[in-house]
Amino acid sequence: MPPAHPFDDDKLREECGVFGVVGVTDASNFVALGLHALQHRGQEAGGIVTHDTETGFNQQRRMGLVRDNFTSASMMERLPGMIGIGHVRYSTAGSKGQTAMRDVQPFFGEFSMGGAAIAHNGNITNALSLRRELIERGSIFQSSSDSECIIHLMARSMGRTIPDRMEEALRKVEGAFSIVAMTRTKLIGCRDPLGVRPLVLGKIGDGWALASETCAFDIIGAEFVREIAPGEMVVVTDKGVASHFPFRPNRSRFCIFEHVYFSRPDSILGGRSVYETRENIGRELAKENPVDADLVCPVPDSGTPAAIGYSLQSGIPYAMGIIRNQYMGRTFIEPTESIRNMGVRLKLNVNRALIKGKRVILVDDSVVRGTTSRKIKDMILDAGAAEVHFRIASPPTAWPCFYGVDTPKREKLLAATMTEEEMRAHLGVDSLKFITLDGLYRAVGEAKGRDAKAPAYCDACFSGEYPVAPSDMIEQGFEAKTAAE
Ligand code: SF4
Repeated sequence: MPPAHPFDDDKLREECGVFGVVGVTDASNFVALGLHALQHRGQEAGGIVTHDTETGFNQQRRMGLVRDNFTSASMMERLPGMIGIGHVRYSTAGSKGQTAMRDVQPFFGEFSMGGAAIAHNGNITNALSLRRELIERGSIFQSSSDSECIIHLMARSMGRTIPDRMEEALRKVEGAFSIVAMTRTKLIGCRDPLGVRPLVLGKIGDGWALASETCAFDIIGAEFVREIAPGEMVVVTDKGVASHFPFRPNRSRFCIFEHVYFSRPDSILGGRSVYETRENIGRELAKENPVDADLVCPVPDSGTPAAIGYSLQSGIPYAMGIIRNQYMGRTFIEPTESIRNMGVRLKLNVNRALIKGKRVILVDDSVVRGTTSRKIKDMILDAGAAEVHFRIASPPTAWPCFYGVDTPKREKLLAATMTEEEMRAHLGVDSLKFITLDGLYRAVGEAKGRDAKAPAYCDACFSGEYPVAPSDMIEQGFEAKTAAE
């Protein structure tokens, strides 16, 4: 397993990516490539399940990156068939930060009408109570993953077909789920009623594909057809796509942070490239929070499009003031204590010749704990910058996410315990400004900003307003926002 990077804990992390394909020869190769394109959504482990008429269901799960596990001919030969699904994960609520092999998806279940495999991106917010109930009624769990609940609920359903059983199971589940599943002949995709996590449909030759993001279609040469609608279940066979709506209709509450950070900039969300949206976020940020300075520099890589937008809007030149070491990442050798102490310098280096004597605006996507921001500020000042101004492309992250994103506990979030001015002093910068929630909504295409009565997105990590009550967490003592906050 690749070691966690010494400063990777200062970002929110998407926990999973899903991919599936039907109607193509050597489906597993397509799944591996799709998962490789989705690797940014989870790097700890991955798995692929395929079905072949001669050998039945085949499955392989591995710790580590797709490129290290699912590229050899000998591995791919073990996954024959024209239908397959796959999953990459960081870690789910079940085993946070420490993926156990038994938690690596897809999960597989054998039913009276045949087998089914299922892979899930998101988080089931009532998994604890469901698990308790299922165990009391005799279910034996193999993993600590909340996604396994879906398999057990399907086993208890009286539905005649696997899609029927899945519908029934998912009606009992609360939270955020984008699911890709398969039977011997059917590829199934489903999004939760609010559509918190993404799921898209693509066409490849005579076959079809489902993926967390459209960038996974580009790598296999598939055509992006459409987003799966919130609350929609699609059952895809070689005859085409059948659409079902198993849940009560609801307003979409897609995760706004996908636009800010999680999704790849070359993916399409809501009909627009993520890159373009991030550039818009930078423009809004510049309109809301101008400052006199000489250079606009991104904190690479995720701050880059917003920094370009900030520069275009403000007229202040854009420059690569910080250079990222491309070969560092998460594949670095296990860091020793002395290497750990080098901190952010392992990954980022300041372009001294450019920075010296300049008033620098640093654009980053978010501030979580603030540990990395402080180190970056130190590097910039060491390089001789005259002033450092932080501009953040998301509002203050003051609440944890319970919908499939790894977030520190609330008390570890800088914005949960400090005012903006206190955060500025803590980071030791000349100014610190965040985009407002209204500004962020404008940047993602809501011209009037956030509608407080009916927000178009999930923005709980900024607003504390959870569109689905995190019932398990409340049971464990999480204190939701009060009217006074
Ligand atoms: S809480 Fe934040 S990160 Fe989680 S789904 Fe909502 S907007 Fe996305």
